Amino acid sequence: MIPATPSEPLVPSGRDARIALQGLVPEQLAADAGVSLNTARKLLAAVHQRGLDDLGGHVPKNALRAEMERVFRRYRVGRLEVVTREASRLDPFVKYLLRCEDGAVIEAVRIPLQKPGRFVVCVSSQVGCALGCRFCATGKLGLSRNLEAWEIVEQVRAIRRELPAGARVHGVVFQGMGEPLANVDRVMQAIGVMHDPCGQAIEQRAITVSTAGVPGGIRKLAASRLRVRLGVSIASARHDVRRSLLPIDEQNPLAEVLEAAGEYVRTRGDAPMLAMTLLGGVNTSLEEADAFGALAVAFRERFGVTPRLSLVPYNPSEHDRFVRPADDELGAFHDRLSRFGVPVVRRYSGGGDVGAACGQLVGRENGRVSSK
Ligand code: SF4
Repeated sequence: MIPATPSEPLVPSGRDARIALQGLVPEQLAADAGVSLNTARKLLAAVHQRGLDDLGGHVPKNALRAEMERVFRRYRVGRLEVVTREASRLDPFVKYLLRCEDGAVIEAVRIPLQKPGRFVVCVSSQVGCALGCRFCATGKLGLSRNLEAWEIVEQVRAIRRELPAGARVHGVVFQGMGEPLANVDRVMQAIGVMHDPCGQAIEQRAITVSTAGVPGGIRKLAASRLRVRLGVSIASARHDVRRSLLPIDEQNPLAEVLEAAGEYVRTRGDAPMLAMTLLGGVNTSLEEADAFGALAVAFRERFGVTPRLSLVPYNPSEHDRFVRPADDELGAFHDRLSRFGVPVVRRYSGGGDVGAACGQLVGRENGRVSSK
């Protein structure tokens, strides 16, 4: 559940000044619209679960409809236009290019799970990103604006609408365009809606918020009642290398980020995921593996939980100065890291051929980078 009065106003962007229903949980809608909680629940369930976009033909003429018509004079269902959907030829990933109401273009990715009919949606939280991680295409855009809570939720709703019958969205990862914890209030609001039984009804434990290192945002998440998973991008456990890859490290050194992650552990008892994007010849040496392993062990000793380690081989985008590590480079790194007795997962970053892999999202349309 999210607070009824979040610290940022629930004001929509775009031309239509009415508030978008997808950004609200039933308690907020009931309080704001002056309708019963029951009506608010039915209305939001119709929007999220039956794909209601307006009242035309969806709702039978009865007392509920009269209430809903009243609500629709003050609220609306916000829309993200699907510009393109690109299916990878290499794997079952699908990248969606979505246009916001103000013309900004963002990307979301449909990721299949091993269990048939189950999907995870990788969502964007901002248009562009201010953090400028060196290996990330989104980072080259700079920041245009934060996404509204409803625009984050709508990415899931838009993809859910296109799933085959019987399939469902099992989880959400905040690994699309933008640094989610730089937009933490709206991200938390969106998570509240995604989790609500009348919203997208997604388990909070199936939602992962990944950050490149915003300690204030981690603390805010830790202080909330949300029970999502936390991921931290390490890039390198060696000070100079990390700073050369993640400029945010100058402002927020890794030690500070990990202290905040430790606070998350204290309030949740839940181990964070520490992730390394492996760039061929840059951060794949055995010294790097040793530094990452030592960092994980130090985290365990300090905070009493063993972090989960995740290795993501880099997928190059166009005109890229970084390359994907060779298989033997990856294997040697993994073997060395495994000696530290900490669980390591080698992740598959799919959809590389359609620019859907981690760090490749740029909101391109017809070869043009989305304007801000
Ligand atoms: S990796 Fe994430 S935080 Fe870094 S520039 Fe890209 S979108 Fe922003």
